[in-house]
Amino acid sequence: MDFKAEKPKKRLFIELISGSYVAMLLTFGVVWYIAWPGLNNINEYLPYMFAIVLCAMLFLMGFGIVGMVFGILGWPLPAIFKRQTYSLLNMLFYVVLASGKLLGIKRRKIESSFVAVSNAIVANRHIKVPADRLLVVTPHCLQLATCPHKITRDPNNCKRCGGCNIGDLVTMAEEMGFHFFVVTGGTLARQMVRDIRPKAVVAIACERDLTSGIQDVYPLPTMGIMNIRPNGPCFNTKVNVAEFRRVIEEIIDLPESGKSDQKKEN
Ligand code: SF4
Repeated sequence: MDFKAEKPKKRLFIELISGSYVAMLLTFGVVWYIAWPGLNNINEYLPYMFAIVLCAMLFLMGFGIVGMVFGILGWPLPAIFKRQTYSLLNMLFYVVLASGKLLGIKRRKIESSFVAVSNAIVANRHIKVPADRLLVVTPHCLQLATCPHKITRDPNNCKRCGGCNIGDLVTMAEEMGFHFFVVTGGTLARQMVRDIRPKAVVAIACERDLTSGIQDVYPLPTMGIMNIRPNGPCFNTKVNVAEFRRVIEEIIDLPESGKSDQKKEN
């Protein structure tokens, strides 16, 4: 049986970031206006220099927002802009979180919107990596709680009985050749990244862990797949295997694609 995760709204993140932008625009204007006499007393050019710094910050943020919208819509952007948009998304997450808190929006909603926007930006980069440079990590709660097999040391200990989705993922890893690990927490996931040195990561987890994971491994491009929690959080969770396969097939540079590694944007 295939499960489907709730579809997060990318629009929420964009609305919050745009609202934060307007608030920053006004704040910077007021700060500049208040600081102007003092700066002018020190040096007549200082107010202008200060204005240039503030405008540069606003330009960078505005540029990031436009890049995010382009990423969501799947419109083409030059490679350099794609990377910068991804950087700005990670940098501005906390600004958005603070705005959301002020408006009483649940952190969970903002995190799932962040993951959706991040995925759209990564997908818009059309990254292709060899299977052996792709790391897939999933939390321990995807394993059936009553399963006696120890899969955190080696997922191949899974007997593929069909009791949970781990068996599907182990089979796919074997077929396609990507690295697959079941981790007990962020520390182990980070260790895997250090050991394997992947070029891209696909993570299955809840919105909270995906958000922190994406930021932890930044600037590595990471696709986050939301787990499904029919039994509540952290217990016998599921993943939409069809969605997982689609994401993996988009990232892995399959031999039959015939594309050269040199042409890849990374
Ligand atoms: S599929 Fe693997 S991990 Fe899941 S219950 Fe069966 S043996 Fe255990």
